This record gives sequence, C-alpha cells and structure tokens, in this order.
Amino acid sequence: MMIAPVDPAGEYRVLATEIDDAVRGVLSSGQFVAGAEVAAFEREFADYVDTAHVVGVGNGTDALEIALAACGVECGDSVAVPAFTFAATVEAVVRVGATPLLIDIVDSDFAIDVRALAERLAKGAKVKAVIPVHLYGHPADMEALLELRERYGLTVIEDAAQSHGARCRIAGESRRVGGLGDAACFSFYPTKNLGAAGDGGAIATSNAEIAARARLIANHGDASKYEHVLADGRNSRLDAIQAAILRIKLRRLDEWNDARRRIAGSYTANLAPAAVGLPKVRAGAESVYHQFAVRVSERDRTQAVLRELGVAAGVHYPRAIHQQPGFARFAESGESYPCAERAAAEILCLPIYPLMTDETREAVERALVQALEQG
Ligand SMILES: *Cc1c(COP(=O)(O)O)cnc(C)c1O
Repeated sequence: MMIAPVDPAGEYRVLATEIDDAVRGVLSSGQFVAGAEVAAFEREFADYVDTAHVVGVGNGTDALEIALAACGVECGDSVAVPAFTFAATVEAVVRVGATPLLIDIVDSDFAIDVRALAERLAKGAKVKAVIPVHLYGHPADMEALLELRERYGLTVIEDAAQSHGARCRIAGESRRVGGLGDAACFSFYPTKNLGAAGDGGAIATSNAEIAARARLIANHGDASKYEHVLADGRNSRLDAIQAAILRIKLRRLDEWNDARRRIAGSYTANLAPAAVGLPKVRAGAESVYHQFAVRVSERDRTQAVLRELGVAAGVHYPRAIHQQPGFARFAESGESYPCAERAAAEILCLPIYPLMTDETREAVERALVQALEQG
C-alpha cells in the first residue's frame, strides 16, 4: 500500500456526521449559491484571520485576480512576484493585464527575497504591487515587506493559499497571515490546510472599499438587482455546500495545524542525521506546514526510490516560474534566479496531513533514510 501525500477523505471521515447533516441542510434549503451559509462562513473566517471583511469566491486563483483588480492593479502595472511559486500567483497578474516582475526567493524560507525587491525599488523600478507567497505554510518576511510598503506606497496582496492560520511577528506582535497587507487570497482546494469538497476561495481585507469592489467584480458588477456598474465583472462565487463544509472544518483548523506542526517536529528531529536539508522557521514565525519540504541532492532518483518503497512524495514545484514555457518571457535579461532554480531542483515534499499516524510517519522516515543510503 502506498503512503499518500495528503488525506482529504480522512478529514471527511472524522467529521462525516456533522458534514452530512450540514450538506443535507443546504440541499433542503434550496439556497445553493451565496446565502446564509456563505455569509456565516465569511464572518467566521474574517474573525479567524482577524480582518474586517472576507469575500468568498470560486477558487484561490480567482481570489488573486479579483483582489488585484479590486486593489486597482491594471494594464501596464508591474507586480512583483516570487520566481518560485504555484503558477496561479503569476497567472493572476497576467490576467489583469499587468506585468509580473520576477524576484528570486530566499533559500531559507522559499519566499520572495525582500532585500532583492528593495534593491530594485532603490534603483527606480516602478512597482505597483507585490504578492508575497507564504509557501508551504511558512510566512514570507512580512515585517521587512511592510517597511517597503510604507516607503514606496506598494500595494501588498498576500497569497495565503497554503497558509491558513500561519503566524509571523510584526513589530513584536504575533499576527496571523491574511490580514497583514491590503488584501489576502485564500484557496480552499481540497488538499489545502482548510479544504472544501471542491473548489473555493476567499479574499480577506480590512479595507471596506476593496471588499466592496471585490464583491462587485465577483458578481457581474451587479450593484443592486440588475444594475451592472462594471462592464468587466464576472461570476466567481463560493457555493453554499462548500461554505457549510468549510464552517465545520474551520473549527478544527487550529487543532489540525498543531498536528501538522507536531509531525513536522518529529520529522525534523528524526531526520536530522540524514543527508537532507530540513525546513527552517524564521524567528517569531509559526509555519502551518502545508508541505514538509526537504532538499535532497539527487531529488528525482530519491523520489523514484521512495515510490518503490511505497511512499508518494511530491515535487512542488519541479520548475521555477521562468523555467515554465508559458512564463519564460518574463525572465529579465541579465537577471538570474539561482535560489528559485535550486529549490525547483532539490525540493521533495514528504507526506504530511493532520491525521497522519506515528506509524505512517515513521515508515516515511525509514523509507527516506533507505532511499538516501541507496544513492
Ligand atoms: C493552490 C494555490 C493557488 C490557487 O488556488 P486554487 O484554489 O487552486 O485556484 C494559488 N497560489 C498558491 C500558492 C497555491 O498553492
């Protein structure tokens, strides 16, 4: 039997009675899109991330695109993004007609290199907005980034698709990601830390105007029944069934993130003697370990041997953004992205999910040690 990298069905099994009741409630209400469940989830999730507003949308990619537009990013603007992230971060920038400015990442946390961005800004680069990605559940260096926001008037849109509940220290205070910039985008794709039973996403913001614009864009620019005040509105809404499921799972999120941290702690302790690079945590930060990403020198071979030994380890992601055919044109001449390329070459994500047993984790550790020894 193969050890899977994630276990969304296991999460359902634990909550089956509650979820079945909630889904039946939605089905018999007849209110399938938006409505009371969605409004309730938006309120509860806003409380959770500590923002005034949450707008539910169809998925995390839409959340990014709609947040960019709601923040006034438009054709011709430049938006700084990390050169190593899931494609959606960059896709959203392109979809609003803006130009992605690729910035290398930092080896230690896989997030945007804020110092490299600062250098570009100091040299006069015109940047409208920046999207820090809290990759693998570890927060980007938001304290440094918020200083740049002050100095240069940047719009900051967090890509929090992998980091529901993660924390970092800002001005001596521990803060949840998702409420740190102008807006933040979440995905509720089934394998995320807070996952629905299908697609879903949300924009969190404490700016009432951004929230109102996002809601308008996501709902055909319809200001009141059939008064369409935008020509480029669209349809991107959170389904009531997904909202009902998310409300139930939100109550478990902190407990399940704690479980991920415990598993990560055991991996870190038990794999310390092995020939792998272990993930680091910045002082004051709390990762929610969406992934437990180690670095190994012969990644593809190690992944293949692990598979033979019954462990499905993932590679998120095998190419940096500028190494993707669709995005190669955004690589600037004279620029290089060595940390992003190194991450793409070395990263291997070990199975991690809240309900993982000690036995399963130990089997992964044994298999990894064996795979490395076979090298
Ligand atoms: C999952 C993810 C997204 C996109 O979310 P979807 O709901 O799949 O559209 C965006 N950014 C990052 C970093 C992600 O991991």
